[in-house]
Amino acid sequence: MQHFIGNAPADPADRRPIPVVDPSSGERFGSLARGTALDIDRAVAAARAALGECFDGPWGRLSAAARGRLLQKLGQSVAVNADTLAQLEARDTGKSLKTARADVTALARYFEYYAGACDKLHGQTLPYESGYLVATVREPHGVTGHIIPWNYPMQIFGRTVGAALAAGNACVVKPAEDASLSSLRLAELAAEVGFPAGALNIVTGYGAEAGASLCTHPGIDHLSFTGSSATGRLVAVAAAERHCPVTLELGGKSPQLVFADADLDAALPVIVNAIVQNAGQTCSAGSRLLVERSIYEAVLERVAERFRSLVAGPPALELDMGPLVNRKQFDRVRQVLAEGEADGLQVAARGQLHAQAASAGFYQEAVLFRDVPPNHALAQQEIFGPVLVAMPFDDEAHAVRLANGTSYGLVAGVWTRDGARQMRLARSLRCGQVFVNNYGAGGGVELPFGGVRASGHGREKGFEALYGFTVLKTIAIRHG
Ligand code: NAD
Repeated sequence: MQHFIGNAPADPADRRPIPVVDPSSGERFGSLARGTALDIDRAVAAARAALGECFDGPWGRLSAAARGRLLQKLGQSVAVNADTLAQLEARDTGKSLKTARADVTALARYFEYYAGACDKLHGQTLPYESGYLVATVREPHGVTGHIIPWNYPMQIFGRTVGAALAAGNACVVKPAEDASLSSLRLAELAAEVGFPAGALNIVTGYGAEAGASLCTHPGIDHLSFTGSSATGRLVAVAAAERHCPVTLELGGKSPQLVFADADLDAALPVIVNAIVQNAGQTCSAGSRLLVERSIYEAVLERVAERFRSLVAGPPALELDMGPLVNRKQFDRVRQVLAEGEADGLQVAARGQLHAQAASAGFYQEAVLFRDVPPNHALAQQEIFGPVLVAMPFDDEAHAVRLANGTSYGLVAGVWTRDGARQMRLARSLRCGQVFVNNYGAGGGVELPFGGVRASGHGREKGFEALYGFTVLKTIAIRHG
């Protein structure tokens, strides 16, 4: 029940706890501190002190190479503590241990990638009028605020905090109230490997309290938000009030486009996995299946067969899916499904619940809907559960229209052997990532990631994230 500020556990100003609930049983197993504006203020002050007024504090004055060495050590420490981190994350989120271990591997890789990038992040010299030397330098924003969701807490921590620290910022992190344990542990590990006090601070709490306070705090120089489009809008408005730059990684309704010439043996397992991994709670889940009409029935038959065999159950059994993260998400998914069925949408297949899935746990079986009208809510809204909606298309132009026909634009998958079509689609799909004959939901530390429209703006991952976490300054020196 404590935050982690200035390399030490910190008592919250408000002593009311937030319960920590195990999604597989619905039982409470711990408590979190309920952060308020006072705690955010303390964390921002600690971060500012670490930077120093003119980047002359214990963190601000470190060389890029020294920052890189610290991030490298943090990545190594994550690897050494992989088992305990994975167990913590699995219990907190309902992920299987196997999935949580994969998240730890990705987390360590983020720190490794950004460790190596610290001292390769440089400006340029620019040709200008004679008698001048003009250069650009990349400087950190200062204190960066990070709001993290519950679906991939460790991976998202790695990609946003790893890049911000690499660029020289000091961070204040507000993890999701449903999944804060790994963030707290990671901050302890950072302190252990030698990060100066205040470089990385965690304030737990509810979004409307701690999260909102972070967004309005005058000492925050940049905000990075990952979560729902609705909350993203609130964060962007709060940031705009202070002219604070903001990166938004929001939701998606990402399409998988399957053409008649596709290699179905290669495509279908990837397509199914892209919606059921993490029980569908993946922003880049491939949640719409668009299939060329001539193979529509055959593809649906095969996908339905696989859906019928999918089992949701206790994470310890390493089944296809664990529970959803909390009661709210579970109720939301059930309601969307009930509305679809009430509207007469046809269920093509349903997965199973394991006999040991506790009735108080938040288990949702996989559901495949067919012939969903493109404008129906099920085909338009992000469900964030293991629900795939299928619809046929007539030709390439129709496929592109359907694919681009939601308010989102995060990721798209294209399955075809026709090289020219691959290139046409890669250019005409309106989204942040296009995968051709593969699909990387959540993957690719090196690959810039982010959306357009309701999926957000700005890019995380890869080098693009480092550009986003820096300010480009132009220096013009007249030497005559
Ligand atoms: P959410 O937006 O409610 O919560 C996300 C985070 O924002 C949490 O830490 C929460 O406490 C905080 N928050 C809530 N209200 C806030 C406010 N008023 N001010 C500041 N912070 C606030 O989202 P959720 O339901 O917890 O997460 C699921 C959603 O997140 C899905 O829609 C999913 O698509 C999206 N998501 C997107 C990505 C991505 O990278 N694009 C990744 C993961 C999740």
